[in-house]
Amino acid sequence: MTPKWMVIKWIYYVKFIEGFFPMEKCHLPKGLELKPGDHADNYLDHWTRTDVQTCTSWNAPIIWEGTFNPTDFDEMYKKKDTVIGLTVFAVGNYLDLYLEHFLTTADEHFMPGFPVIFCVFVDDLTKLEQIDSKLSGRGKVRSFKVERHKRWQDNSMFRMKQIYELIDNHAKKEASYIFCFDADQYFQGRFGTGALGESVALLHAWFYRKPKFLFTYESNPHSAAYLEGEGDFYYHAAVFGGTWQSVRNLTEACYLGIMQDKE
Ligand code: UDP
Ligand code: MN
Repeated sequence: MTPKWMVIKWIYYVKFIEGFFPMEKCHLPKGLELKPGDHADNYLDHWTRTDVQTCTSWNAPIIWEGTFNPTDFDEMYKKKDTVIGLTVFAVGNYLDLYLEHFLTTADEHFMPGFPVIFCVFVDDLTKLEQIDSKLSGRGKVRSFKVERHKRWQDNSMFRMKQIYELIDNHAKKEASYIFCFDADQYFQGRFGTGALGESVALLHAWFYRKPKFLFTYESNPHSAAYLEGEGDFYYHAAVFGGTWQSVRNLTEACYLGIMQDKE
């Protein structure tokens, strides 16, 4: 086991070197329209925040508190009759430990004011029914029974297949956007329409200010997850989403990569 003082020293070292790597800034000129037409991205203000990066080098917006107006965004998405789906898996311990807190806080904070569909995958439906009875009824709950895999890694990885099958069989008829969350977290504040976009990922908080050489990308060149020196950000797998089409394609690609690696 690593002694505690060594871990503390490592954390200080990492914090210290962060200061030598300045963050990139958004290079887009003020007033530039990112998308044709009346697109939500055109209403972003990339210049209200100078302390953080507000767009990527390939002109994808990075959303922060202050770069968008929640009221305007809500209005825009209301006009489009937006429905948002949320997928979460809670198998084995995760069902007893995390699901209730996750769902009750999602009920309060996930896309407030919008119709939402909670697609919940569990290995014990009776436990989900008990949690469902504590929710406000704002969101529809769709429950799915899944098998528990022996390895927790498989419980995590096989979500990809189940998500794209869910989209093909149900979700694409019901929701325009889908978000996929880990169960071992909960909402503390609004997670609203500012997060809607074609393909959405979360910058990992721990890696955000770190230089790229510290990113824990896959290092095995034989893995389908190997990036061959590419990669600008370290994303947090516990939150991703987008239109049903793009989430469908992403989860299918992940599943095919996982199967290729298993071979
Ligand atoms: N998960 C689950 N049961 C398991 C393992 C994983 O339900 O035995 C689901 C759960 O939603 C969890 C997610 O898969 O949040 C990802 O697994 P985990 O949170 O352990 O991964 P990490 O956050 O450590 O990458
Ligand atoms: Mn997790």
